[in-house]
Amino acid sequence: MDAAHRLFLHGFFIPIWGVVAIMLAGTDLRAEDQTQIDDAPTATVPLPRILVFTRTMGFRHASIPDGIEAVRRIGKGRFEVDATEDPQAFTRENLDRYAAIVFLSTTGEVLDAPRQEAFESYIRDGGGFAGIHAAADTAYEWPFYGALVGAYFKGHPAIQPAAIDVEDRTHPSTRMLPNRWNRTDEWYTFRDNPRGRVHVLMTLDESTYQGGGMGDDHPIAWTTTAATTPSVGKGRGWYTGGGHTKESFREPLFEQHMLGGILWAAGLAESPDPAESANRSEETDAPRESSPTP
Ligand SMILES: [Zn+2]
Repeated sequence: MDAAHRLFLHGFFIPIWGVVAIMLAGTDLRAEDQTQIDDAPTATVPLPRILVFTRTMGFRHASIPDGIEAVRRIGKGRFEVDATEDPQAFTRENLDRYAAIVFLSTTGEVLDAPRQEAFESYIRDGGGFAGIHAAADTAYEWPFYGALVGAYFKGHPAIQPAAIDVEDRTHPSTRMLPNRWNRTDEWYTFRDNPRGRVHVLMTLDESTYQGGGMGDDHPIAWTTTAATTPSVGKGRGWYTGGGHTKESFREPLFEQHMLGGILWAAGLAESPDPAESANRSEETDAPRESSPTP
């Protein structure tokens, strides 16, 4: 590069740097303006809230604190979690603060008639319900709840490993799971087969463990919407039979299963219309019997 050329470039860059300096000064001014705006009260978008209800009027699972902790952990950055044992939380005004209500191993008759009415109207108007494990051992005298949770607990064999066949590969609570999901838990049998009243997400393979009791069609997780259960209105119900053990709530896949179920119930994760998913429609009507410890 000759001297004349270098001089030309030098002459060219001086005005450029001048322009850059002016631009930087402008940026500083804007930054100061921004700081003033930031000093004002900020309107951040609050996360949705989830209420975890753990009242037990019968058997109490030792894993309940682990379950609450797990819901808090999986909710980080997605939703805020309140946990309560207090049925007074079930007013329509309070429930409306929540995107979904999680019944985490509740047992027995947990809500009186006015609280039941508040919950029913909350669900019918589009609220979410996620039932975990003994949520199916709850509110036997409350038909709306029975329809929402899908099936009532009947019994279980000893805790042992079993294989689960994932039937719906698209739902937010199951799409990350293997086709055949092997895990250890306390495997519920239900008073009857909910298929036909619910959209089944996955079934237990009773040939892989001892003491099944429901035969070759043993649903273990499902959803309830108006598509299968008109009484729930615009509400969304999700249920999983797993979650007896403390260890369940430290299992990455079980956590993701729960997270997907809660997000879906809360309307925060979508799945194809259940009516479009493959769903066998057979239904059984087994005799009802009273139940042992959940
Ligand atoms: Zn249990």
